[in-house]
Amino acid sequence: MSLETLVDSPVIAGEYFRTIDLATEMKPSHKLDIVADSAAALEIKPEDAGHFSHLVTEANALFGAHHYRSYHFLLTLSEHVAHFGLEHHESSDNRRPEKYLIDEDALKVGGSLLPHEMAHSWNGKYRRPAGLATPDFEQPMEGELLWVYEGLTTYLGNLLATRNGLWTNADFCDEVAQNAAALDRLLHPDLTYSHSDGKTQTKADILKALPNTQSITFGESSVRVYGNTALVKGPVEFVNNAANGATTTLNLSVLQVWLKGPNGWQLVARHSTKLITLP
Ligand SMILES: [Zn+2]
Repeated sequence: MSLETLVDSPVIAGEYFRTIDLATEMKPSHKLDIVADSAAALEIKPEDAGHFSHLVTEANALFGAHHYRSYHFLLTLSEHVAHFGLEHHESSDNRRPEKYLIDEDALKVGGSLLPHEMAHSWNGKYRRPAGLATPDFEQPMEGELLWVYEGLTTYLGNLLATRNGLWTNADFCDEVAQNAAALDRLLHPDLTYSHSDGKTQTKADILKALPNTQSITFGESSVRVYGNTALVKGPVEFVNNAANGATTTLNLSVLQVWLKGPNGWQLVARHSTKLITLP
């Protein structure tokens, strides 16, 4: 076995363990391997096992092919481990609270975890953004395309959680609404957001139509705090998606004004100037 395969092939083990064959009509095999703190926590409802089988068929329908020899969802249900998901080529390492499969709410809240990690098998492992594909483990990865690796996978994970039947369409919309609510909390009601072309937008303008931006890279910024006000100034590179499928790059000097109030720090003003590169 190569070092690369070994590093990418985790194992789970425990006293309370069971394996469920998913989507048995499909080749290669897909298995849900569960290890838990108690025997009771392994008692997945048949309809929920059905959702995970649907996940397999929907993912293969979405991507149109599979590259793995077999796929294992490793699922650790425990109060004694950190809770997260980690993607691998032919498996994923998913860790949730003990009652994940037997508590309807817990399963729904974490409903996109297995879909997300499985989507990574295609987007992130089989196909890897440039900069994240390194010839060996000595070379540092470059993360400028992490938005493809993580952003697209987040979208596909939510989509598959809905297509497999675990989430309803309303659950999918709730997930999007939560992101909008997080942005809403960060923007002060009096926000003036000035662009480098002189155009100024309000908070309502920003929430209505987010700019079609592919990436935002902050350079070294200075932060000065005066009581409940903070000034953040530094260079920012915006790569925007243009209508014809191309991208445009803007290099700006941006000044942000943040106010600390009852809702925490909020952006109240932002001004930007184009940085001109002299020949
Ligand atoms: Zn991810």
